[in-house]
Amino acid sequence: MEPSNLLYSLCSINHKQKFIHFLLHSAVARSFLLLLSWLGVWFIGGLVEYAHHASVWFPPAGLTFAVLFVVGVRAIPILMLAAILVTMFTNNDYQIELQDIEVLEGGVLFGFAHIIPYYIGSKILYWLTQNKQLTLPLSIISFLLIAAISALVATALVLSALILSNMMSMNDFSATWLPFWIGDMAGIIVLSPLFFSFLHFVYPDKHFKILEHIEGQLLSASPQYKYKVLLSLSLVLVAMILAKFTQSMDSSFAIFFLVLPHMWIACSENAFFNILSLALTSLLVVFLVDVFELMNFVMVYQYAINVVAANALFAIAIPALTSYNTQLQNKVFVDSLTQTASREYLIQQARAELQKAQIENLPLCLLVYDIDHFKSINDMHGHDIGDYALKSLSHTVKQLLRPEDLLGRYGGDEFVVLLPKTDERVAMKIANRLLENINAIEYINDQQLSASIGITSIKQDDDFESLFKRADNALYEAKRSGRNCIFQH
Ligand code: GH3
Ligand code: MG
Repeated sequence: MEPSNLLYSLCSINHKQKFIHFLLHSAVARSFLLLLSWLGVWFIGGLVEYAHHASVWFPPAGLTFAVLFVVGVRAIPILMLAAILVTMFTNNDYQIELQDIEVLEGGVLFGFAHIIPYYIGSKILYWLTQNKQLTLPLSIISFLLIAAISALVATALVLSALILSNMMSMNDFSATWLPFWIGDMAGIIVLSPLFFSFLHFVYPDKHFKILEHIEGQLLSASPQYKYKVLLSLSLVLVAMILAKFTQSMDSSFAIFFLVLPHMWIACSENAFFNILSLALTSLLVVFLVDVFELMNFVMVYQYAINVVAANALFAIAIPALTSYNTQLQNKVFVDSLTQTASREYLIQQARAELQKAQIENLPLCLLVYDIDHFKSINDMHGHDIGDYALKSLSHTVKQLLRPEDLLGRYGGDEFVVLLPKTDERVAMKIANRLLENINAIEYINDQQLSASIGITSIKQDDDFESLFKRADNALYEAKRSGRNCIFQH
């Protein structure tokens, strides 16, 4: 690249960054972006409106919920402005002959009816997720419950507002409330997690439990992710073509099979890509309901979107719980200072190896070593140097063992090495090699470690306790004989 071009592109990157920074950090720009986004998603919801005031799925409910959760009361004026604007559009669309002032009143009424339930719902969720005790599964269940209840309250209030402002007749209420509610609920359950994750970039200090599983993972879908999404989308297409050609209610229920690929995605991909795939498949469902004119079965599709999304969201907890479980297991099975096996893990593995060796008649040796005069190292040089000596010792010994051997910290400065398929002669050679290398460890200037080692080999009627006791007795003899030596029992 020519130097001038390079300079130009560097400058333009700088301008782009400045523009993005301005968009994300100026209050006016953020408000304008929010207004545009809300009107944009409202327009998308309007495209798939199948009855007056009832969409298959209503994205603005998801955006309102997410914005009120993340931004709080400061977002209310913009949401109110958006509500007034869409009331004006609706007035034109439905050709309802209302005076300007009546439209304005209707817009304000609609705004309050839409905003208040989602504000209260999002505040309750925010308050709940601030509690550190709330587990991920519980926070997901709270989210689903709050979404259902606040969408129901919003439905009751918005429909009442529409009737009060003469934009809907009382007779339409009974036919409208259920699809309205399920559509709003789908908008929240399917889309607000996606809006949460986008808003998180603009307001990084606000936390939602699910977001902890999204942060830093945005670009880390598995290479198979696109095939999984393709499978979900194909399933939607096949199920809806089937419903179109058979025109039977039974066929429309085939859409519920979508739960299978979505559970697969939820268990194998991170939360963000799980949420993204939900948004994509539900968008296709909504689009095909319109294109294939499947309005007779629309409630089936609305319920399917909610049920599939609720399952997939709940499944977000599975990878999180698995990794939490692994962390706990590591804590229990690995000694945090020396990164050797913990006493519990060592005993568990030793019991299994012992049984195997006895059944298959294989040799097995146990080696126990303990640092000489470790107390005085701590006393003379401090606990940190003592810790450093323990870490260096473990690192050195691990390098000298085979992968099938197991090194564990039995307690304090005493360690155990389990040597499967090893006879006494080889164990003695290993012990000599260990001692030689331990003596070379310089834990502080010109001060080397020394250790005493006890060895024993398996007998037919041994259990772990008897095997360990013999090796420990051998270690005790090594200590009594002046230390820095090896004894065998
Ligand atoms: P001997 O030669 O008989 O083994 O003498 P010793 O001084 O090594 O005695 P012993 O093995 O009984 O001493 C163990 C000491 O190890 C006592 C305790 O203060 C110290 N210790 C135990 N755990 C840790 C630890 O995690 N870090 C440090 N720095 N010291 C520890
Ligand atoms: Mg010691």
